[in-house]
Amino acid sequence: MHLNALKEYDEEIYNAIQAEKERQMNGIELIPSENLVSQAVLEAMGSIPTNKYSEGYSHKRYYAGNEIIDTIEDLAISRAKELFGAEHVNVQSLSGSPANMAMYFALLEVGDKFMGMDLSMGGHLTHGSPVNFSGQLYKPIAYGVDKETEMLDYDAIKKMAQEEKPKLLLSGFTAYPREIDFKAFREICDDLGIYCCADIAHIAGLCAGGAHENPVPYFDVVTTTTHKTLRGPRSAMIMCKEEHAKAIDKAVFPGLQGGPHDHITAAKAVAFKEALEPSFKEYASQIVKNSKALADTLTSEGLRLVSGGTDNHLMLVDVRNKGINGKTAAIALAKAEIYCNKNTIPYDPGTPWEPSGIRIGTPVLATRGMKETHMDEVGKFISQVLSDPENDSALEKVRGDVREFCKQFPFYK
Ligand SMILES: *Cc1c(COP(=O)(O)O)cnc(C)c1O
Repeated sequence: MHLNALKEYDEEIYNAIQAEKERQMNGIELIPSENLVSQAVLEAMGSIPTNKYSEGYSHKRYYAGNEIIDTIEDLAISRAKELFGAEHVNVQSLSGSPANMAMYFALLEVGDKFMGMDLSMGGHLTHGSPVNFSGQLYKPIAYGVDKETEMLDYDAIKKMAQEEKPKLLLSGFTAYPREIDFKAFREICDDLGIYCCADIAHIAGLCAGGAHENPVPYFDVVTTTTHKTLRGPRSAMIMCKEEHAKAIDKAVFPGLQGGPHDHITAAKAVAFKEALEPSFKEYASQIVKNSKALADTLTSEGLRLVSGGTDNHLMLVDVRNKGINGKTAAIALAKAEIYCNKNTIPYDPGTPWEPSGIRIGTPVLATRGMKETHMDEVGKFISQVLSDPENDSALEKVRGDVREFCKQFPFYK
């Protein structure tokens, strides 16, 4: 990476950035919301549209000199439309949480009822958690997963929706390892005449790459981050039916934001171009293949997976049969330079701070070029750590093996 001016001017930040690059390359990154963007996306992010103010929308700006910015925003929009089959796209939303805020602002009045997944079962904070604006401004009704199968029970969700009569039903999750039957959600909403929305932040890359059903063409509003499986810059977008276009755009600007981040819009356009390539389909399917292979290894190493496996890019591992909790597990793994996050499992007897599980995923592994055949090794590293999490010299040994393993998959120069 060419950071010559930075190196010359600010060594402290330069050194920190280099050290972070080394960390990302040396270790096994299993946090399912993370990814590695291409050099082209990185270059667009660090580029001069950051200097521009362009409040408003393409061809209707409040500032002069936006003709070129319009070209950038138009390209991002048309590529996103093609990628997801969307009628309307807003690419100005700054991140996943504000994208959800814009969706609620557009479709709900303060105090309205909506249904979303419980945070402890795999929903996101912005799906109605009491510590989040979504739980404070609106009246969220939380659904969960079935206690036995640990999967969505569409009949139970339908029954809850019939009883509660929310104005909006939100699907799309943060820690759900199974394919979502979006058509079932659409049917529930059609029966009740309510808004059918999804937040596909985690799975957007799988939807775009054909490895997971894509709800965009027939849902009212779909929000997504652009930096998770979609592998673009840290940001978001909102896709919707034409009938909601005005309300969504008004909610983003002037409702919630001032000037869009035009350099990030440029980087989103680059990422969408990449996602339209045939190789992106291979990447998406490789994520799922890796995930299933890793799940098999972990299961044969005696670990229990929530719902018994995975259909997507992530899995939840219940670590209790190793005699530890998710916090201990995540700390021990990090000592071996294997990164994941502690996570509640459905009906967790533990707390969010000391939950029973960890959440691991394969997007970065697929981006680095790892295949199913490499997952056996990754799974065994995890198992070794979780079997002896207090043994620092054993962790040190795994760390060495992890570094050696990762050298086969260089990414940034
Ligand atoms: C990550 C995530 C978000 C939030 O994205 P931020 O960019 O971190 O605000 C929203 N919804 C879901 C389902 C997510 O997984």
